[in-house]
Amino acid sequence: MSSENKLQAIRGMNDILPADIAYWQYLESTARALFAEYGFQEIRVPIVEHTSLFKRSIGELTDIVEKEMYTFEDRSGDSLTLRPEATAGLVRAMISNGLLHNQRQKVWTAGPMFRHERPQKGRYRQFHQMDVEAFGYAGPDLDAELILMTARLWQRLGIQRLVLNINSLGTTQSRQAYRDILRDYFKAHQDQLDEDSLRRLEINPLRILDTKNPAMATLVANAPLLTDYLDEESALHFKTLCHHLDLVGISYVINPRLVRGLDYYSRTVFEWVTTELGSQDAVCSGGRYDGLVAQLGGEHTPAMGWALGEERIINLMQVQGVQIPLTTVDVYVVLVGQQAESVGLALVERLRTQLPSCRIDTNCGGGSFKSQLKRADRSGARYAVILGEVEAQQQRAAIKDLRSDSAQEEVTWDLLGNMLQQRLVR
Ligand code: ATP
Ligand code: MG
Repeated sequence: MSSENKLQAIRGMNDILPADIAYWQYLESTARALFAEYGFQEIRVPIVEHTSLFKRSIGELTDIVEKEMYTFEDRSGDSLTLRPEATAGLVRAMISNGLLHNQRQKVWTAGPMFRHERPQKGRYRQFHQMDVEAFGYAGPDLDAELILMTARLWQRLGIQRLVLNINSLGTTQSRQAYRDILRDYFKAHQDQLDEDSLRRLEINPLRILDTKNPAMATLVANAPLLTDYLDEESALHFKTLCHHLDLVGISYVINPRLVRGLDYYSRTVFEWVTTELGSQDAVCSGGRYDGLVAQLGGEHTPAMGWALGEERIINLMQVQGVQIPLTTVDVYVVLVGQQAESVGLALVERLRTQLPSCRIDTNCGGGSFKSQLKRADRSGARYAVILGEVEAQQQRAAIKDLRSDSAQEEVTWDLLGNMLQQRLVR
């Protein structure tokens, strides 16, 4: 059978199953709360955009645009692309909705991104990002805020030992001088360049620094440093950012090799890395992109943003044994016999009204006492509420602690809600 006919997901695209969903919900709800605390508002944009948007923003000579995009023609003959990252679409949305006229905007979004990469652990073709962007802020204080937010997020999530790499790419103008020097350097070692790098040599030699080809590692390590060609204003911007991080006590590594794989960055770039996930070591990265809004047709607006890879963050939480709140139900209601079944749902509805934050699963579809109790146990609930024929007649129910040997307790329906509440807060 061809892989198309087999009923299976597309390679590199994963189902996220109920057994894992607690991690996703924990990450997303923690981040969502934190974003609000820092004054960011959610925005949701389409997953599909015109292909030209990504070409113009990410850059024609990047890995993403050259090799990784899911691009297709729709029925009207338009070239569309599944978004490989969120920034381009958000910038497009800011401009096309007129949200940048004399306004500052702090927004975040989350969702699936698509890149046709070689699937492996921590690298998928559909993966998920949480993405934060701030528009209209030119100063390094905003850069610091964005990075401090990430540091606090790791702390909230209980993630440890991440290392922050930072660098400054300077302005487009100051990069020009460096670009020429870099081109000369790589030209002198042309025999060591791979095919991609040769293509990038003339137009965009900076991209060569971002190569993942291990055969070129030494060549790249010995290349001239951008740091030595930084313009004065960018150097001051970077120094002030470092000052803010120092004052808060966030440690970082200044990594002059960090150039990032997208063309739109200027000045600050950063990346949080781990040694605990193998070769897919970046869990969150971002940077400033002061020229992009104007480049895409909006009025000049300085901006900066970052994105975290949800799969990698969750994997790291699992590797580090981060304890997350349980998402199982609190109570499982066992209904044995016709009479219990007939009054059971109404009784549980009353309980749900009385105890809104209590999670209650009702046994539907009957079954013996024994099999229902097994289901109660498997549900993860702390307590079973048991209603048999006799209890139903007498308007009573039994509460059984499923996680200890204590004797079960009989109560009237009127007292059931109160009794459960008392036990659940204990
Ligand atoms: P990498 O160097 O690992 O390819 P990147 O620089 O391409 O990462 P970004 O474009 O900066 O990644 O995306 C931000 C984050 O999204 C990354 O730090 C990473 O955690 C995650 N990410 C990127 N590509 C993938 C992928 N194919 N599968 C899973 N997560 C990814
Ligand atoms: Mg990549």
